[in-house]
Amino acid sequence: GKPRVVVVGGGAGGATAARYIAKDSKGEIDVTLIEPSRQYYTCFFSNLYLGGFKEMDDLGHSYGAIAAGGVNVVHDWAIGVDRDAKTVALAGGGSVPYDKLILSPGIDFVEGAVAGWDVSAQNAMPHAYKGGSQTELLKAQLMAMPEGGTFAMVAPPNPYRCPPGPYERVSMVAHFLKKHNPTAKIIVADPKPKFSKMALFQEGWANHYEGMVDWIGEDFGGGNVSVDPAAMTVTIDDEVTKVDVCNVIPAMKAGRIAELAGVTEGNWAPVNAADMSTKADADVYVLGDSSSQGDMPKSGFSANSQAKVCANAVRGALTGSKVFPAKFSNTCWSLIDTNDGVKVGATYEATDEKIAKVDGFISATGETAELRKATYEESEGWYTGITSDMFG
Ligand code: FAD
Repeated sequence: GKPRVVVVGGGAGGATAARYIAKDSKGEIDVTLIEPSRQYYTCFFSNLYLGGFKEMDDLGHSYGAIAAGGVNVVHDWAIGVDRDAKTVALAGGGSVPYDKLILSPGIDFVEGAVAGWDVSAQNAMPHAYKGGSQTELLKAQLMAMPEGGTFAMVAPPNPYRCPPGPYERVSMVAHFLKKHNPTAKIIVADPKPKFSKMALFQEGWANHYEGMVDWIGEDFGGGNVSVDPAAMTVTIDDEVTKVDVCNVIPAMKAGRIAELAGVTEGNWAPVNAADMSTKADADVYVLGDSSSQGDMPKSGFSANSQAKVCANAVRGALTGSKVFPAKFSNTCWSLIDTNDGVKVGATYEATDEKIAKVDGFISATGETAELRKATYEESEGWYTGITSDMFG
């Protein structure tokens, strides 16, 4: 029969890989995508939803076009991988055979990462770091804050998905509060001494939201934090603060199925840069956030870029089609306030050792309003383009 590719996870990496392999192999390869959700809500632009710039519907994407493109879409959880038998077990029973397996399951949280918090507390103190209901919950809590209340964030340690994500979120929460609750305060407990686009965010917070954001970095005890979801308190370096909303973003690791497949080392799955195959098994590939690949940040853009390299290599391995040298790119845009967009990005190539950065760029402080507006508009074009590249 035909060679079989199974893709686990229909997010940024998995949807792209499944779609490209089916499209480019023109029926020569049997592609199955395993994804429990019928609608994928992007984390990208979810901060803009918190800020009031996007609706939840703008973030949702279905799998209809992927199925119409020839991918067998199975809405179920993968619960195990037998690498000797080359099968994936499903929660609903049964198993799916593969010749090549591609895992792109995103992230899970490291247990015990923030003292006092575990996933059973995610309703009282949401992470909103997986798309959909958690994002809506955080927005509802933000809207329900009392006048002059306190919004707290516990930021994650490196490495984590979307390095500027927590700080874009602070900006969008500040934007919302400035309009609806201007005497409210934001405190951020951060286990890091610095963060992505720090100078740009701090400039933006000072310009647009003066006095509202109190960022407490590692040097000031920001890493020494615990929470009490029942009492709604946050303790930073022994100082207890009663808060109204607490967004806990814990330390992250590869999606659990990567661990169950036995392709992780520590928290992440090491891969070969040329094709995204794992160091543990040449027939198992890991894309996106779950992979440990070198210099690329964990982003939707990166996952999409890695998926195309992987799709090309997998197709070549199974059908003998031409394989192109691996080239990758990424840009992370962030919105600080209305029409105040900034970006950071780079191009990458595959070396024997890792995905290695070739060239990079970053927005500068003090840019003109026109340039910042153009950067924001560029990000809107990117969102439209990349989601249609992923979901058809
Ligand atoms: P995901 O897109 O998370 O997809 C994983 C999928 O796997 C999910 O659909 C899940 O249901 C499925 N899955 C998991 N386990 C199983 C299993 N066992 N069986 C079957 N299916 C499974 N990136 C950008 O490029 N630009 C941005 O502006 C940006 N902003 C962000 C803002 C925030 C607030 C956050 C949280 C993230 C942001 N990101 C952004 C990062 C981006 O969302 C992720 O890096 C990207 O989604 C990673 O893709 P992935 O394929 O690895 O995982």
